[in-house]
Amino acid sequence: MASPRKKGQARKAMWSQSPVQFRERSIAGRGVFARKRFEPGEVVVAYAPKQRRIPVDDPEADVAAGTKLTLLSEGAWVIVPDTSVPGGWLCNHGCDPNAALYSSGEGRIQCIRSILPGEEVTIFYGWVSSNEPERDPCLCGAPACRGFINFDVSDHDALHFDAESPAGEAVRRRLDAYAAYLRSIDQAQVIETVGDRLRELRAKLGLT
Ligand SMILES: [Zn+2]
Repeated sequence: MASPRKKGQARKAMWSQSPVQFRERSIAGRGVFARKRFEPGEVVVAYAPKQRRIPVDDPEADVAAGTKLTLLSEGAWVIVPDTSVPGGWLCNHGCDPNAALYSSGEGRIQCIRSILPGEEVTIFYGWVSSNEPERDPCLCGAPACRGFINFDVSDHDALHFDAESPAGEAVRRRLDAYAAYLRSIDQAQVIETVGDRLRELRAKLGLT
């Protein structure tokens, strides 16, 4: 049987080997920091080591979505993190992120460009809003910071999207630039969300 001292040492070793550290102070108050170097493709941290799964059509899923921490997994389940246990759900948004959130399985944060020890692990939130362009100001500090976390689709965009006019061209140019940016950070699935939102707005405006 192991002595209590040995047990204590084993526990200390386990924590000192933890590849990430959860800190109170960062971009938005809390964040995840690397304790070792990560290379693209490596899993950095589980999204929610403790979590619940509820069917996507359960009314509770809508309520939980209000926390902005839920993850849609495989189109069927909503992962709800237990926020008493730190995890990748604490990652802040960055406009030039070094990691990405993958929702398959139990959800994970995966490195997309080298992360150095001590560096904050950031992901792209991919929030899409309608007619609220300045909803979520971004403080990430990246030279390429977009200024806002959310990408907004407006009635103006919906109206002019397919118009052969300078306004239509401007809208398409903006959406194309956004799609190129999302692909460059491995977040192409957000392009679909933008497309869905545009279709919703067009339907609302009677432009189906
Ligand atoms: Zn930013």
